[in-house]
Amino acid sequence: MPTKPDAGRETGYAENYDHDNVFAKILRGEIPCNKVYEDDYALAFHDINPQAPVHVLVIPKGHYTSFDDFSNWADEAEMTGFFQAAGHVAREVLGLADKGYRILANHGVEGGQEVPHFHLHIFGGKQLGSMLAK
Ligand code: 5GP
Repeated sequence: MPTKPDAGRETGYAENYDHDNVFAKILRGEIPCNKVYEDDYALAFHDINPQAPVHVLVIPKGHYTSFDDFSNWADEAEMTGFFQAAGHVAREVLGLADKGYRILANHGVEGGQEVPHFHLHIFGGKQLGSMLAK
């Protein structure tokens, strides 16, 4: 297990987490979302600006800014619960497992991350083509 760079930090709450980001507001119910699934660890909802016939976002309930933050700081139950939820959404809720789908997580500036709360994109519903824009 790698050493955590910020010893003493409490699990689940990044000190630099922006509590006013749009996904924090969705989690608090302050703005609506088109929900497809929710449990103790994750919330999944349709992207407001879909890039494929199916474009769903899966976010953890904990306050993690990105995949980098989540993979370093989430505890075992949060990680397991989150990834099980994402698989369940793709398989049972969206029915994408047989035909195929893509998951993607952007981190930071060069990754093109816009919303600073960790989220997985699930894309499907068509042949998605090459992995990155040329
Ligand atoms: P990122 O670039 O951070 O990986 O992706 C952020 C995603 O959040 C984008 O695909 C964008 O369309 C989506 N998004 C931004 N604001 C909202 C919102 O208020 N509601 C929903 N459902 N999606 C949003």
